[in-house]
Amino acid sequence: MKITIIGTGYVGLVTGACLAETGAEVFCIDVDQKKIDNLKNGILPIYEPGLDSLVKRNTEKKRLTFSTDLSQVINSSDIIFIAVGTPSDEDGSADLKYVIGVAKEIGTYLTQYTIVVTKSTVPVGTAKLVKQAISEELAKRKLNLQFDVASNPEFLKEGNAIDDFLKPDRIVIGTDSEKAEKILGQLYKPFVLNNHPVLFMDITSAEMTKYAANAMLATKISFINDIANLCEIVGADINSVRKGITSDSRIGSKFLYPGVGYGGSCFPKDVKALIKTAKDFTYKLRVLQSVEDVNNDQKLVLYHKIEKKFNGDLKGKTIAIWGLSFKPGTDDMREAPSLVIIEKLVEKGAVVKAFDPVAMHEAKRIIGDKINYINDMYETVIDADALAVITEWNEFRLPNFNILSKLMKLKIIFDGRNIYDPLELKEYGIEHYCIGR
Ligand code: NAD
Repeated sequence: MKITIIGTGYVGLVTGACLAETGAEVFCIDVDQKKIDNLKNGILPIYEPGLDSLVKRNTEKKRLTFSTDLSQVINSSDIIFIAVGTPSDEDGSADLKYVIGVAKEIGTYLTQYTIVVTKSTVPVGTAKLVKQAISEELAKRKLNLQFDVASNPEFLKEGNAIDDFLKPDRIVIGTDSEKAEKILGQLYKPFVLNNHPVLFMDITSAEMTKYAANAMLATKISFINDIANLCEIVGADINSVRKGITSDSRIGSKFLYPGVGYGGSCFPKDVKALIKTAKDFTYKLRVLQSVEDVNNDQKLVLYHKIEKKFNGDLKGKTIAIWGLSFKPGTDDMREAPSLVIIEKLVEKGAVVKAFDPVAMHEAKRIIGDKINYINDMYETVIDADALAVITEWNEFRLPNFNILSKLMKLKIIFDGRNIYDPLELKEYGIEHYCIGR
């Protein structure tokens, strides 16, 4: 099978590499010439565990190729995936300019039947717009071509993307064409040998499923954060409460860890976009609006604890930070809580020294020279007035507290992910502030 993927970002590259791994011939297209040149030289644009070797292997086998020229490959493709970004527009809606731009480009070059699949996260009705944009371009060329449009939202998690793609919980495909259903079913056969289902449905439901899934996950996070904040006020321990509720099989244990709020390239924008979709249909998604409000506040909870500890005077205080990416396993800093916390600390005159195992280059690109970047987690805390742990990378979980105690000016840890045991830290004489306890 020959596949073209337009947009070689997180989703496009992972999709391309994983499909090539099953023997398909995959062409990855991007407008970013530098990205494509780098990929041709084996340099990946993102950090994602396992992706390097997958790309290398399939590039060497010539099953995975990279180009900026869609016209060269489009007409030998059985399936074309659109995997470009859908960032938030000013009003919160998903900005479809890249998706529609790609659809027009497809219409400009297409000369034979193909299936155009939206893999980008797109609001209900987008497949229709894609179909319309392609048809209009074909009409300009006076071509009456048969093609199908389908929706195949992606559910991978950054940091675990390869495993999620190769062994998905489910694959959702929205289509109104039997032919497209058959071909897409064949494409995904190697990925559902674990008996997890390919769920075929109508296009609108598929488009909605992706948003509903992310909205549910964001809701779980804001819910537990809200309860954690209340625990703190009433004197309960969120860890005990969490265990108490998650042992109920109806509730389940995943995505119910209190922290500094959700970030990343998906939840914030998808929650906003779903709220906006509802608004467009004169419906108010009240639960989801609260989810967003709680999250915006939660990103500042750790900062407020730091501010309170130093009686509002952070001028000249040295705050060490461990973890910058929005979650472990990725260098993605989009909407990362660390950005909000750092901005406040710097605004109040604190000196920030930060360390992250993989996101330092990305942080430098976004934050610039407002903070100090230290390449070693222990060096970061030298003479620090406090340490704030923002991302729960594994290597932060069992640090040598003796060394920390010796290096820090004041022995204070703000634990934004509840990864430390308060009693253990007490033994080292470390003051410990966490979430909901
Ligand atoms: P990204 O920003 O990493 O990549 C998008 C790529 O598209 C960029 O490389 C950009 O240069 C390219 N592009 C833009 N216009 C183009 C054009 N006209 N032709 C060719 N390439 C073009 O984005 P991403 O994180 O991969 O997300 C893509 C979509 O997938 C979004 O809708 C996102 O919501 C969704 N999604 C993302 C994730 C995730 O974890 N990142 C997970 C599931 C779904």
